Amino acid sequence: MYDQNHLAQSLSNGAANNLNTCFLQAGEQGDAVSYAEFYARSEQMAAALVAAGLAPGDRVAAQIDKTVTALELYMGTILAGGVFLPLNTAYTIKELEYFCGDAEPKLVACDPSRKDAIQHMVGPTITVWSIASDGSGDAANARDQQTPGFEVVPREASDLAAFLYTSGTTGQPKGAMLSHGNLASNASTLASAWQYTADDCLIHALPIFHIHGLFVAVNITLATGASLIYMKKYQPQAVTEAMTQASVLMGVPTFYTRLLDYDGFTSDAAKSMRLFVSGSAPLLAETHRQFEHRTGHRILERYGMTETGMMSSNPYEGERLAGTVGKPLPGITMRVADNNGLQVPQGERGVVEVKGPNVFQGYWKKPEKTAEDFRDDGFFITGDIGLIDDKGYLNIVGRAKDLIISGGLNVYPKEIESLLDDLEGVKESAVIGVPHPDFGEAVVAVLVSHDSNHPTSEAIMAQIKHDLAKFKQPKALFWVTDLPRNTMAKVQKNVLRDQYADLYS
Ligand code: AMP
Repeated sequence: MYDQNHLAQSLSNGAANNLNTCFLQAGEQGDAVSYAEFYARSEQMAAALVAAGLAPGDRVAAQIDKTVTALELYMGTILAGGVFLPLNTAYTIKELEYFCGDAEPKLVACDPSRKDAIQHMVGPTITVWSIASDGSGDAANARDQQTPGFEVVPREASDLAAFLYTSGTTGQPKGAMLSHGNLASNASTLASAWQYTADDCLIHALPIFHIHGLFVAVNITLATGASLIYMKKYQPQAVTEAMTQASVLMGVPTFYTRLLDYDGFTSDAAKSMRLFVSGSAPLLAETHRQFEHRTGHRILERYGMTETGMMSSNPYEGERLAGTVGKPLPGITMRVADNNGLQVPQGERGVVEVKGPNVFQGYWKKPEKTAEDFRDDGFFITGDIGLIDDKGYLNIVGRAKDLIISGGLNVYPKEIESLLDDLEGVKESAVIGVPHPDFGEAVVAVLVSHDSNHPTSEAIMAQIKHDLAKFKQPKALFWVTDLPRNTMAKVQKNVLRDQYADLYS
């Protein structure tokens, strides 16, 4: 359907076929932006980048608010053959110092309040452009000095289009290098798997510094000529109200739990929607069921990561199974393997490995780490533990690094969390391992209740102990009001592990 090799061709597809239609609603001034306007301004941005000295392969680092100018900077970078490097807006100047030192960008775009500090940090040879929360600033000024009509810089499928530091809840961030071929093929694969067309309108309430909000949501939209309702933040009421004009919502699981907590979200409100997608963190099977009960819609859960784009999805047509992440997307091969990369029998747990046009080109300046994470036959080791169930659907059971080894026995937190989450009075849970003098690690459960009137820890233990072998049973339970999460809604188990580290010392 699109050029599978050049991201600029893929992303220009929507503009080419839908010049006079709307690309985006709720721009900087609440206005609508047509494809013709967006594409012309992206061409001007590309020309401005080249005028600022950007050569093919140069990095453009962007720590910027969610504006239309930000999308133009992304599109302009791709048209100009540059490499886009979005950065989480929560990063401190100190953290930026690491990213800029590692990535060596040619240009950094940032909020005006940080411009001086960043210019000081990167030195005078690197251009720093401001982009304010209304889209104005140096980038917009440089763009406006150029005329539309930029000639796209040719690039090969294996040339880099973007890199993204993995959100990794532990360890030093690594830059995952994504090529034109990786991003273009994933947009095309997802668009056809989810039956995306130019008639679709997506409620976009995700951040644009992450793979989900930028490479899934924006790329599919541009590639198909669909439109976006562009929201700075996720807010259940605003999202619900937008549904009358929209057809698709892409969200992290908390989008859905918070919609369910909002009384104004009814089956009537959702009646014009055709698709609700969830990913980036596990969706509770209970949320899936409650959502269906409330709206009649079955959320479509998919699975992916920064390094691989989207790998698997529940079917658009066919059974969407709660608690599973579906089957490999077309053209992508996945296996659940043992520590030597050998496929384990169906139903057994192992590490999820993946191969396909979606898989990244390696970690920036980290050839050893890259080599460690790939098998000789080209499969990438995701680090997620999964199993293929009897229907052939992949179930993610946890992260290899979250595995608890207690008394020499493997304990998979997800198994215990699933039991706990199903109990009356438990909203959600996180199970971690903490240092223990006898067992090496002890299993500890951290629970969130629906209200302050939660069951006692003894009552919880009494309910689960018949379903769990002794070595898997939590040695301690704690009630908290919220689990610590990062911006993509992932539970930060490292924070919990630190918090309870001294429990048995
Ligand atoms: P990131 O690179 O920040 O997108 O994080 C990728 C990780 O998020 C994966 O390796 C999984 O551990 C997790 N993840 C993404 N989607 C899902 C899902 N649908 N269910 C469970 N875990 C998920």
